[in-house]
Amino acid sequence: MINHAASLACAFLAALVPLQAAGQLEKDTIGTTAGKVEITFVGHGTLMLRWAGKTIHIDPWSKLPGLSGLPQADLILITHQHGDHLDTAAVNLLRTPSTVILLTAKCAAQVGGGTVMKNGDVQKVLGLTVEAVPAYNLVHMRPDSTPFHPKGEGNGYVLTIGRTRIYIAGDTENTPEMEALRNIDIAFLPMNLPYTMTPEMVAAAAKAFKPKILYPYHYSQTDPGKLAPLLKDTKGIEIRVRNMK
Ligand code: ZN
Ligand code: ZN
Repeated sequence: MINHAASLACAFLAALVPLQAAGQLEKDTIGTTAGKVEITFVGHGTLMLRWAGKTIHIDPWSKLPGLSGLPQADLILITHQHGDHLDTAAVNLLRTPSTVILLTAKCAAQVGGGTVMKNGDVQKVLGLTVEAVPAYNLVHMRPDSTPFHPKGEGNGYVLTIGRTRIYIAGDTENTPEMEALRNIDIAFLPMNLPYTMTPEMVAAAAKAFKPKILYPYHYSQTDPGKLAPLLKDTKGIEIRVRNMK
């Protein structure tokens, strides 16, 4: 029950922010050695990537009204079972009979037909490689001293497209596994308290694995503007703030 309550609180915070319809969502286009990747910033922890005619949804959440106007999925990635990441209504909206779904064991208990990835697993799907990176808390705990995100349950994902590596961290702190990542071109790092990272923790992670482009995401009421001063002396990292409350 504690799990459920905290997950609701996480969802409630995110629901307070201004929401955008699909046509107004921000997008960035990134060049890779295998063609362009278009990133759509759906909001909170939810992203859509389009590459080579394929549509990839990450943690689709139907509370974000922009989601319902988006194309159906060739691939859905789900990081963990909390309600703002695993939303079976959103999965059912976006999936077709041929959609590949990669998810954790706890998520698979609620979503049929997916492929479970454990921390460290690698899958090749649709011409890209997906690596599951552990996502968990070391510091931030529930009142009963259990972590909001216990080690071994959640995944972040590194997508390799051509030679471009995109890391979507999920709900996590700056773990040793995160800090050991290398050759990350684009990183999405969560920054909301008490569930994930402080701006200082995000900055520490970025200094360790040096993504070329850093998007703070899933930041709820945390000010993403706090990140730039913390990284002002670190060269080679471009911080991009999009509407990902
Ligand atoms: Zn969570
Ligand atoms: Zn979350």
